[in-house]
Amino acid sequence: MDIKSPSPKVAVIGAGPAGLAASLLLLREGFRVALFESHSKPGGCASYFRRKTSDGRAMTFDAGATVLNGMAPGQWLERALESCGVALPAYEPLGLLRLRLPGEDPRDLDPRDDKTWIASLLGAFPEEAPREAYLAQAARSARLLGELLPRVPHLPLEKLADLRLSLPTLGGALRLAPDLLKGFRRSFAEELDEQGFGPRFRRFVEMQLLITLQAGAESVHPLYGRMALFFYPQGSGNVRGGFKALMDAMLGAVEKHERGHVAMRTPVLSISPSNDGYEIRTEAKRWGPFDHVISTLPRFDTLRLRSEGQAAHAWERHRHECWSANVAYLIVRDHPELPAAPFGAHLSSAPDATDAPGGGDVYVSFSSRGDAERGPAGLRSVTISTHAHPDAWRDVARGTPGYAAAKAAAGAPLVEAFARSFPEVEILVREFATPKTFQRYTRRREGTVGGLPMTYANTFFRSPSQRTGLRNFWQIGDTSFPGQSVYGTAIGAAACVEKILGRKLKI
Ligand SMILES: Cc1cc2nc3c(=O)[nH]c(=O)nc-3n(C[C@H](O)[C@H](O)[C@H](O)COP(=O)(O)OP(=O)(O)OC[C@H]3O[C@@H](n4cnc5c(N)ncnc54)[C@H](O)[C@@H]3O)c2cc1C
Repeated sequence: MDIKSPSPKVAVIGAGPAGLAASLLLLREGFRVALFESHSKPGGCASYFRRKTSDGRAMTFDAGATVLNGMAPGQWLERALESCGVALPAYEPLGLLRLRLPGEDPRDLDPRDDKTWIASLLGAFPEEAPREAYLAQAARSARLLGELLPRVPHLPLEKLADLRLSLPTLGGALRLAPDLLKGFRRSFAEELDEQGFGPRFRRFVEMQLLITLQAGAESVHPLYGRMALFFYPQGSGNVRGGFKALMDAMLGAVEKHERGHVAMRTPVLSISPSNDGYEIRTEAKRWGPFDHVISTLPRFDTLRLRSEGQAAHAWERHRHECWSANVAYLIVRDHPELPAAPFGAHLSSAPDATDAPGGGDVYVSFSSRGDAERGPAGLRSVTISTHAHPDAWRDVARGTPGYAAAKAAAGAPLVEAFARSFPEVEILVREFATPKTFQRYTRRREGTVGGLPMTYANTFFRSPSQRTGLRNFWQIGDTSFPGQSVYGTAIGAAACVEKILGRKLKI
């Protein structure tokens, strides 16, 4: 490195998926990076924890996020991480997926490509046969959207402070996919009614198996596209060791990079602009100055950012409300009934899970059979999550009395649903999490922690810019668009790095 002109120095705040991706890409492009994380572990909402079985054997769980896409060989996230020198955990392609409808024998669905997927759906739902054209069209639109989205950061945004302003361009591109635009204006229910789907299939869609099990990780089912543009199928179990393996690998690559510095257990307390750039204060010391700051924190007021321009910041106006989640973590004894494939979802679980506060759709992620990094042979770790409205938790989370009972009441239906789907599977350990749990991981207040945006108004098209009122001060991750997912935040981080560089990244 040329000592006289050292590379620019960037502070990245938060070692969640967004901060990790930004750090890696910046290092790749020659910047010096200091990454600050308040927690002892990386990952944020995609973090992990360990628990012991009663006989003392340790298992690893995904704490929140369970679904990961973009990691199959050649897909965007895999390419991006590989180009940053991340030692990628082993990837396992999805096998057959098992569909269970209440009172019916299980059937296998084959997600290997659109054609096989549609054929297996039609086999499973014979009464829907006339809808084949619809399914085919849906699969085409999904693929198109999948192709389009990774290019969004590459739209000509140079002079645009906000992706919103690029809507004419984006809209132009979307004209290629009129079905998608229609999807934005209708609810799931309306769309399904209009298509005349029967009750069995309807239930299937309502459980979101279409999205969670759909073939091709680079696609979004258009029925779902209006809600979560970056939400894709594939369990994190697809990567051996789950999110732990991925987040540790990303953090490890930043740590061992000669221009990278990682400060774990180091909450950033304030950021102050100075003549030379930005100064960051943590409990122990002052850091900097930094040429750029990239923050993944949702609320800058918590950092007491002192600046003339502070009033101009749009952050308060862009306070997003997110769905949060209730989660049940299980250790179960492996059983031939459990899918060998890492990800499964179970239709019979939905109705009762909605008894949980704000509960709804249920996602189930299994560690894959023999995933030794998750835990000992013969045991499987299972993370079951459902979205929860933060309002349902605000009061109980604040007052300790009643909290434990509310937590158990929210988790119980998830476990019961699992037990109903797999009556023969022995559950060895069960534990629950609530939005309060995720506040602990992410330091986000009042339930605004990950999950999906609660309203359309909160989504992509209304997201605030990564640029802020302050020069060289950027915001990325769920800060700029809530619940955009691990893949989405990585794409957003790449877009931000492109803005800093003033050119496109080669990925
Ligand atoms: C229950 C749940 C389930 C989800 N399921 C999925 C899923 O299946 N698939 C998927 O792709 N996405 C899922 N998501 C969303 C996904 O986890 C988020 O989109 C993603 O984690 C956001 O990344 P981020 O880096 O923007 O923020 P976060 O993950 O929130 O990370 C922010 C980081 O900043 C740290 N931090 C906070 N304050 C400070 C401070 N003052 N100083 C230093 N560090 C600080 C936090 O500790 C944290 O590590 C889920 C989210 C939740 C909550």
